[in-house]
Amino acid sequence: MLDVLIVGAGPTGLTLALWLTKQGINIRIIDKSTGPGETSRAMAVQARTLELYRQLDLAEAVISAGHKNPAVNMWARGKRKAHISFGDAGSNITPYPFVLVYPQDKHERLLEEHLRSLGVTVERETEFLSFEDRGDLVVARLRMPDDTEQVCEARYLAGCDGARSPIRHQLGTEFDGGTYKQIFYVADVEVTGLEPAGEVHIVLDKEDFILLMSYGEGNLYRLIGTVKDERAERVEALTFDDVKHDAILGLGIQIAKVNWFSTYRVHHRVAADFRSGRAFLLGDAAHVHSPVGGQGMNTGINDAINLAWKLTAVLRGQASDGLLDSYALERQAFARKLVATTDRLFTFVTTEGNFADFVKTRIAPTFVSIAYRIDSVREFMFRLISQTTIDYHGSPLSEGEAASTRGGDRLPWVRTESSDNYASLSPIEWQIHVYGAVSPDIKSWCAQHDMPLYVFEWTESHHNAGLAQNAVYLLRPDTYVALVDDAASTETLDRYFSSRNFNLNKTL
Ligand SMILES: Cc1cc2nc3c(=O)[nH]c(=O)nc-3n(C[C@H](O)[C@H](O)[C@H](O)COP(=O)(O)OP(=O)(O)OC[C@H]3O[C@@H](n4cnc5c(N)ncnc54)[C@H](O)[C@@H]3O)c2cc1C
Repeated sequence: MLDVLIVGAGPTGLTLALWLTKQGINIRIIDKSTGPGETSRAMAVQARTLELYRQLDLAEAVISAGHKNPAVNMWARGKRKAHISFGDAGSNITPYPFVLVYPQDKHERLLEEHLRSLGVTVERETEFLSFEDRGDLVVARLRMPDDTEQVCEARYLAGCDGARSPIRHQLGTEFDGGTYKQIFYVADVEVTGLEPAGEVHIVLDKEDFILLMSYGEGNLYRLIGTVKDERAERVEALTFDDVKHDAILGLGIQIAKVNWFSTYRVHHRVAADFRSGRAFLLGDAAHVHSPVGGQGMNTGINDAINLAWKLTAVLRGQASDGLLDSYALERQAFARKLVATTDRLFTFVTTEGNFADFVKTRIAPTFVSIAYRIDSVREFMFRLISQTTIDYHGSPLSEGEAASTRGGDRLPWVRTESSDNYASLSPIEWQIHVYGAVSPDIKSWCAQHDMPLYVFEWTESHHNAGLAQNAVYLLRPDTYVALVDDAASTETLDRYFSSRNFNLNKTL
């Protein structure tokens, strides 16, 4: 029988399909559309996504196809008030200390091609209609390209079917939150007169929020903005002419050509549950929020990577079904935090009134510019945007603490002479890292359980990154730290797996 039916071949569904296929899981991925998206939509690929893309050899392909935006500029009252460089902020945090701009349509095509190279083709013009959860399997009704109906049985159903998710609707899952009164517009434009070129520009003004991002292709930029006032009431009829004035005034640029223009309303909502029986919600089907901050698509991709190894472990009989609850718990906690953060940020940049304008145009750019010169602030901001701060501290899968690294953390990244400590993370599997000396007991435990063990010579960089000398770091297949054990005890490792109903022999 089919293991997983994936509904939706946007970035979330494609990532889930890739990670499951790579682990030998039998999937089908369907989409009602005729082909991949034609519009650029989400542009930013964050560092955390690139780190995880190394597991499928995708990071370098995405980086070479995209454009590294090295800095962000803040404008107010027609003047550039701050220039913030990403490079020095993230160079000790990740191998990818930049914001990569790679339009979503191209990104989806690359993921789909990669999936095809693994032998799986997206079934297009195939619409999910409904499903029934029979306890031990799901039975879905599909409308095929020739308009006939087909019944598809699978062990699990993955709803990667976007913000209007039919699966979420059928489940009756609440999608609480709200809708911003502003209308968002996005445009792909050719710009002249922008200084410095090739970077990100944000306008904080009385007018609505404006963001301009370089594609790295000549004068091509992505323009994102908001409108409220009377223009927001005629969203269907809104044209680029209605909004271009704000952008030109805010940045003093000329717009030579508009290649694409679209408007949309933005909601901020999180599904009440990301799992119901054998069905899961991922990506926009589970959470939607303001595009300010470039987090949406990345969060969907990270949902998929979180769920893929857990489904694999359960389908292989290595873990009990309860493991799948941790997907909902871990990812919903992050989605809630993210929606609250983007909401606060967005409310700040779009609040009206004399005092708010004063803070936005006079205080914020200067404050950000000064604060950014402080190393810790710079790192904090980079970590937040790059999704490298995501942790699963509250998860039942997380245990232990040593130095400043806890179970549930992203493994601190450390450069080594020839490579880095992430090089071993490519296979999607459990593994142990020790920084310093490893005891014979741990060595033989790893050999006995067929657990990959990586030992790194202890250096000052490990200390600076928050790692503890000689501690055992048990890493999950999605590379997060499961267990930190300062005492490096084999009993603790045994107990970690047995108390979570992992079948060690099958798991490892
Ligand atoms: C105009 C626009 C601009 C945006 N700009 C940004 C941005 O700047 N930054 C950002 O982070 N995000 C942005 N977003 C949001 C971003 O595009 C989404 O977060 C991202 O696409 C989510 O990916 P997903 O795979 O979860 O869902 P989607 O990309 O929505 O994919 C869902 C898929 O499910 C398919 N589907 C739906 N129903 C069915 C069915 N019944 N049967 C079969 N298939 C079905 C759809 O055809 C679709 O292909 C933008 C979105 C829009 C519309």
